[in-house]
Amino acid sequence: MAISRQKSSELFDRAKQLFPGGVNSPVRAFKSVDGVPLFIKKGDQCYIWDEDGNRFTDFCCSWGPLILGHNHPEVRKGIEEALQNGTSFGAPTELENKLGDLILSRNPFIEKIRFVSSGTEAVMSGIRLARGYTGRDKIVKFDGCYHGHADSLLVKAGSGLATFGTSSSAGVPEAFSQETIVLPLNDKEALNTCLENYGKEIACIIIEPIPANNGLLLQDKDFLLYLREVCTQHGILLFFDEVISGFRVAFSGAAELYGIQPDIITYGKIIGGGLPVGAYGASAEIMGHISPLGNVYQAGTLSGNPVAMAAGYAQLKECAKEGFYEGQEARTQAFVRQITDHVTEKGYKFEIFSIGSIFWFAFSDLEAIRKADDIDPDSMDHFRKFYGYLLDEGVYLGPSGYEVGFVSTAHTTEVLSEAASKICAVLDRLFS
Ligand SMILES: *Cc1c(COP(=O)(O)O)cnc(C)c1O
Repeated sequence: MAISRQKSSELFDRAKQLFPGGVNSPVRAFKSVDGVPLFIKKGDQCYIWDEDGNRFTDFCCSWGPLILGHNHPEVRKGIEEALQNGTSFGAPTELENKLGDLILSRNPFIEKIRFVSSGTEAVMSGIRLARGYTGRDKIVKFDGCYHGHADSLLVKAGSGLATFGTSSSAGVPEAFSQETIVLPLNDKEALNTCLENYGKEIACIIIEPIPANNGLLLQDKDFLLYLREVCTQHGILLFFDEVISGFRVAFSGAAELYGIQPDIITYGKIIGGGLPVGAYGASAEIMGHISPLGNVYQAGTLSGNPVAMAAGYAQLKECAKEGFYEGQEARTQAFVRQITDHVTEKGYKFEIFSIGSIFWFAFSDLEAIRKADDIDPDSMDHFRKFYGYLLDEGVYLGPSGYEVGFVSTAHTTEVLSEAASKICAVLDRLFS
């Protein structure tokens, strides 16, 4: 039975008069799926409720930050305590030290960190640092990786044989996109050609070591190791954008999972416990180039905001507990297996890719999808229907077939098993 969306519809109509497309971030507009966006009233544990009173099991988790689920008591307590003392000072607070200490004492890949207010800001600052440190202008990114909306990263592969990217957004000067080279993921040959031509001009190669913004494009570890090797050879900084994978697949992210030492790492999402925090880190030597120590300028009025620091600290303290990531992975795997078993038995064209507590549903029969080009755009028609049926069953995913799902600690074995049954029933309906 279709859920009532009357209140969400009314709110969306009003929102469209206030905000472009009715939203403050584009994917929320539900353009890739049918219907109007649900306006969310509240969340608790693994559930969210919309304004019409419908309850959903939430696998979007605010696009990743809520690894403990909604309204976690420790995070709420941390925020409430910080709030007693005011919300912002624009001066250092002990809470920044606490969060910085918690991270750096457990993360062997960075020696210093700088807090900012979003993932975009972290990446933008990290790119400036890479350029300032190396004295080089060009950067390399990969097709299928998202790094926020900074000018030099809103770039897609150029047409034909063009090496340099073209902007994927209006408003980005061509001179900027000319400095960004876009390569296919998991492709050593394309990388080698690029390095032969431009090796000496490249400041950094930026990658999501676990690309999770355009499907889940799991890379061969061998490719990531090769990146490390060629970066060292060419004096290029290896930049891991771990805004999703940081604190998600392991406390120290994909660097820890794969055992690879990047030169610069960015964090976001989980690091702020549901409040706006981003961060970039590197060796003390590289970070020494940041203002006020060095000549790479970067600043923020609300950077290291005490309330946000308290939320991040409370959340990461939970993540740092013994067995946290093992538990997350085990429950996610059981969930994935339950669906996969059903799909295999029925012979549906449907695959689930997963790592740690991230999963991605693909209407595909490919055993591996490692490049953006391997995703069949037509498969998104299936996703659109699948999405509508899932909402009717009370299961909420990010509203696009290119988005991954997240499992939090609030998704218990029982919750996951029930959700998996619903997903199987929806697949039966879809393929019948
Ligand atoms: C979400 C994301 C960003 C952008 O972070 P915002 O907080 O949305 O600005 C950058 N890089 C990656 C890998 C992300 O997943």
